[in-house]
Amino acid sequence: MRHKTAMPASSLPSLMMPCPVCAGRMSYAGRRAVSAELEDTVYACRRCGAELIRTSLRKIANPDAEAA
Ligand SMILES: [Zn+2]
Repeated sequence: MRHKTAMPASSLPSLMMPCPVCAGRMSYAGRRAVSAELEDTVYACRRCGAELIRTSLRKIANPDAEAA
C-alpha cells in the first residue's frame, strides 16, 4: 500500500497531539513510575487543564547495575 508521509523528519517530538477536549496544546506535566518496567508520562492542556497520561516502557538509562 502506498502511503505518503507528509511529516517532516522525525526531529520533532513524537507526541504533539492536541487536547481531546479543546484541541489546545498539550504540554509535558510530569512523569511517574508505575513499576520497574512501566512509567506514566503526564501531559496537561494549557487551556483547559485536561490531563493525558501515556504509559510507556521505561528505558534503562542507568547501566550501572554492576558496581564498578
Ligand atoms: Zn484542553
